[in-house]
Amino acid sequence: MPLDQYQREINYLRVSLTDACNLRCVYCMPEHMAFRRPAELLNDAELFRLIPLFARLGFNKIRFTGGEPTLRRSLVELVRHAANQPGIRQVGLTTNALLLDQLARPLAEAGLATVNVSLDSLDPERFRQLTRWGNVRDVLEGLAAAEEAGLRIKLNAVPTRGVNDRDDAVALASLTLTHDWQVRFIELMPFANNAGFQTENIVREDELRAHMETSFGPLESVNEGRLDGEARVFRIPGARGTLGFISPVSRPFCAACNRVRLTADGRLRLCLLRDDEGDLRERLRQGATDDELETSIRAAIHRKPWGHDLAGDRIPASRGMSEIGG
Ligand code: SAM
Ligand code: SF4
Repeated sequence: MPLDQYQREINYLRVSLTDACNLRCVYCMPEHMAFRRPAELLNDAELFRLIPLFARLGFNKIRFTGGEPTLRRSLVELVRHAANQPGIRQVGLTTNALLLDQLARPLAEAGLATVNVSLDSLDPERFRQLTRWGNVRDVLEGLAAAEEAGLRIKLNAVPTRGVNDRDDAVALASLTLTHDWQVRFIELMPFANNAGFQTENIVREDELRAHMETSFGPLESVNEGRLDGEARVFRIPGARGTLGFISPVSRPFCAACNRVRLTADGRLRLCLLRDDEGDLRERLRQGATDDELETSIRAAIHRKPWGHDLAGDRIPASRGMSEIGG
């Protein structure tokens, strides 16, 4: 199992399959976003080669993300490949769910265990406002297909001040009363392309939780307050599912970080909110052997930064969320 310089075990790889997307969420990317050319992205052969190397190094969890990972034609094959690697215990997907209607079953059959679906509002108008051109009905159909295929479901919502941080957040949380899902609220994070927007619109965990408690009464702490991945988990009394609060800005969880990200253009991003990266694509294309690639991966992981420095006003400048793989 690779250790970083702070002796954290790094065993979770998030793989971005594309920086492109079929939505344009206002907090994630501008409406007229320029995407990378296909030749800049890792091709299937390169991904099929890298994934087993991470498994061999001791990684046990892989999540495919993007951009929108369901736009990648080979997604089902990549999931099958990852799920079949010795040592890989869980393969997950983060998606806006627009294409899950068709894909949920083949993905589940290929070995996908969990799906995190981004859904910021159940209200059609508000959903469109946040995604610029999405139809919430498509997401609900995708979710129904995921449930029918037996995938474990988490919802991700990013509360944005004055838009979906009140009634919409409560309506999303209410889904846990009847569904065994985790509905997670992610604090808005700053990147070069949205830093002003983030500063004005972030809703911090304390405020959101207080709002939830005015609607539902005191929330029960789950797991005795221990993190579930990056989320602090609570339950509305009597609910089937749980609420997760992911608060990288107001309550950083860097000490428990166990992940690195492989960007669609083949960089190993060591911390979501720091620009330090290792370049695997050029190593691959220069003909590096598996052993040489493993050495590069280990060396990059070793220098993984302790954490972000948003408090010191250091905002990631080189990429936005959709170009990293959130
Ligand atoms: N397209 C897929 C989706 O939306 O689920 C996967 C990629 S998306 C970048 C992954 C997650 O990042 C989504 O849940 C999205 O809401 C979240 N996200 C995007 N920009 C963000 C930001 N600036 N701060 C916090 N979360 C953000
Ligand atoms: Fe696309 Fe996901 Fe970003 Fe929305 S959050 S624009 S769905 S990548």
